[in-house]
Amino acid sequence: MASIDADACSYCGVDDEEPPGTTVEFLPPSVVAHVSPAKRSRATAPRDIFSPGGSVGRLPRSTFQTKAFRKAFYPDVSERDWNDWHWQARNRLRTLEQLEQVLVLSDDERAALSHGGGMLPVSITPYYMSLVSRDDRNQPLRRTVVPTTGEFQHGLGEAEDPLGEDGDTPVPGLVHRYPDRVLLLVTDFCSSYCRYCTRSRMVGHGAIAPSESRLENAFEYIRRTPTIRDVLISGGDPLALSDERLDWILTQLRQIPHVEFLRIGTKMPAVLPQRITPELCRMLRKHHPLWMSIHFLHPDECTPESYQACTRLADAGIPLGSQTVLLAGVNDNVETMKSLVHRLLIMRVRPYYLYQCDPITGSAHFRTPVSKGLEIIEGLRGHTTGYAIPNYVIDAPGGGGKIPLQPNYVVGREGNDILLRNFRGEVYRYPDAV
Ligand code: SF4
Repeated sequence: MASIDADACSYCGVDDEEPPGTTVEFLPPSVVAHVSPAKRSRATAPRDIFSPGGSVGRLPRSTFQTKAFRKAFYPDVSERDWNDWHWQARNRLRTLEQLEQVLVLSDDERAALSHGGGMLPVSITPYYMSLVSRDDRNQPLRRTVVPTTGEFQHGLGEAEDPLGEDGDTPVPGLVHRYPDRVLLLVTDFCSSYCRYCTRSRMVGHGAIAPSESRLENAFEYIRRTPTIRDVLISGGDPLALSDERLDWILTQLRQIPHVEFLRIGTKMPAVLPQRITPELCRMLRKHHPLWMSIHFLHPDECTPESYQACTRLADAGIPLGSQTVLLAGVNDNVETMKSLVHRLLIMRVRPYYLYQCDPITGSAHFRTPVSKGLEIIEGLRGHTTGYAIPNYVIDAPGGGGKIPLQPNYVVGREGNDILLRNFRGEVYRYPDAV
């Protein structure tokens, strides 16, 4: 196997194109060991840590499902390589041929994978693929990373850039919408591409390179705009950059006197938790106050590996929040969402936002009615810990920003009393003289 570092991109430490000879040899399907459905369903719930009475002391290294997947498809890959984020990134599964080695593809998935063209690229880390069902095309995690032809349908009200980010971009890769904060896109690379990505128009297409000259322009804009006190570093996935490049970016931003607060948006703890190394955490902690928003979608993403990744980040003093997109057939019911938010709290991640799915082109099969989001919030509020309840928001199409949505708990007024409905539907009065 070729050395990773020799060919790696100097910015992100990840080859976008695999060098010849570095792709993992898959076993022919005829000799693939199948995980029995019964074992698989047991494996999707990592009960040792997340079930009632579960103990962190009994934390396994991986779920049964990941272990079985490795044994079936990567039997010769060492523990060290499997747990090396460079190896995981270099061996992403990206083609129809690679996916059909590990999945029983439906006709629709096969048609989408054959489409090519300008679609959002396909990329799934071997680790994340280990959590994907081999047979069930409706399994939630599979729906989020394996394309279907629904992506090529243009629904009513959909747009390439529904949030109007391009119109709020004063310099390439910097979105300035709210007066006191900016979104800095440092790369368009992600180790795994989400089929509902808001920035599918640009991610994975090489449009946003982490080049020094482009980033210098962005820093210069921030330097000469003293109202900016908060910089959200996003992409693509900023943690796809090498420690050195990320350190440089954070250092440049920290040197700007009016920048008080830095945030990183990432999906790495879910799709490539091996990226969260002790070295990365040591570097990040130099740049406090630094917060992190992690993109988690489903309780099946809360594995021992992601638990360890979040623990390392939290131990480095980084407050963690989750950003979850509400997706049809993935997490659009109270039970799934409750399981997710409970697991996130165990992982020291505060559920922060629940986003209504943005109307990007080809997203109709992922979008739910707004009433579904309200139903989920209603099913959480009062029924579980307040810290577990995210803010349900719609990012307003056209650049209106995030608008919070709540079930209506005010049922009326009688004289000087306001009438309020509690989580059980019981009505209470509060003295509220006008
Ligand atoms: S990780 Fe974020 S930026 Fe990357 S594909 Fe998923 S939603 Fe898009």
